[in-house]
Amino acid sequence: MTETVSPEKARYDFKKGMQDIVDVRGHGTELISLYVPEQRQISDVMAYLRDEYSQSSNIKSKSTMKNVQSAIDSIMARLRTFKTVPPNGVAIFCGEVPRAGDQTKMVQHVLFPPEPITTFMYRCDSQFYTEPLKGMLLDKRAYGLIVIDRQEATIGIMSGSTITPLKNIDSLVPRKHRQGGQSAQRFERLIELAAHEFFKKVADSATDAFLDKEEIEGILVGGPGYTKEQFLKENYLHHELQKLVSGTFDTCYTDEYGLKELVENAKDALRDMDLTKEKELIQRLFSEIRKQDGGLSAYGEDSVRYALEMGAVDTLLLSEGLDSRRLSVQCNNGHRYDLTVREGEDEERMECGECGAVLEITYNEDLVDNFFERADAFNTSVELISSDSEEGQMLMKAFGGIAAILRYRVE
Ligand code: ZN
Repeated sequence: MTETVSPEKARYDFKKGMQDIVDVRGHGTELISLYVPEQRQISDVMAYLRDEYSQSSNIKSKSTMKNVQSAIDSIMARLRTFKTVPPNGVAIFCGEVPRAGDQTKMVQHVLFPPEPITTFMYRCDSQFYTEPLKGMLLDKRAYGLIVIDRQEATIGIMSGSTITPLKNIDSLVPRKHRQGGQSAQRFERLIELAAHEFFKKVADSATDAFLDKEEIEGILVGGPGYTKEQFLKENYLHHELQKLVSGTFDTCYTDEYGLKELVENAKDALRDMDLTKEKELIQRLFSEIRKQDGGLSAYGEDSVRYALEMGAVDTLLLSEGLDSRRLSVQCNNGHRYDLTVREGEDEERMECGECGAVLEITYNEDLVDNFFERADAFNTSVELISSDSEEGQMLMKAFGGIAAILRYRVE
């Protein structure tokens, strides 16, 4: 887990993990949800679980007791693999879950949330407790926030639904009433000088807070009146940050409350921006496809995979709704190959495409995960496309949810 994953991938993993646990129902009160904040010591959590384990011997139903205890065992085994709690904490869901017929199966889901877990929590219930994570799905990316007027500026970060103030900077810019004895011109010059110094200071703080932070998708600038426009127009921000500015929005305040106002006022624009980016990618794909020779496009799993393995894919476009597994299979007669099946089909009996013998699955992973891994090997960027736009739905319907914009044409 300690390897760095792209924010796009981390978000996908989290969303997918949530889908897996949200609707699960257990037979009895035997599904365990454990939330561990980053600050918590692993040894504390272990002690807590050992205590729960011994208390569970009071449970009346023998089968429930057994299931609770083996879930606690399984969680403890998992926790032993952590040296420390990862940033943002970790949520573990574990228990005996009904399968087809009378069967049950022990499942364990470990989620690394995109936002911090704030409260330690242990619950044992007939379903997993997911409330604390639900707000995090509204996400999406992180944005840098600056609210500024001539008196004050505040810098912060919005990540998902959380706003974190980072720095408040007071200016030494004199208010606009002149003291006796100063010439109006001289006073004006002093003001401009002080404003210049102030803007520089704000820009430096923005550099510290936002530069080279991969998760920052854009920067929102707010404040009352013209100061925010002046700050941008005169290029105080580092040029890399200047490129990230997604818009300016009016706010009444320039303190922490101003950050909240800024996010509130930018909400619609942000949602549109997300969708716009996706739309633009799909439209670019379509304009390539329309070219007589197919242009720099590939679509359908086989063609895209082929181009990907040649290193020819610039941007891989995947529908969030793919919902499939990538399997490696083999049969008794020595046939081995990879194939893609819909989610759930991997639990059915499958026959070898060559000889009809029963197939054994030797490797099984989420299709999107599989694509992320392959893309990583070729420095290909991956964009997950929601089905919230017409373009996104088209990707799913017309191309099975898998397409690519190429670096060069492949035959
Ligand atoms: Zn075979």
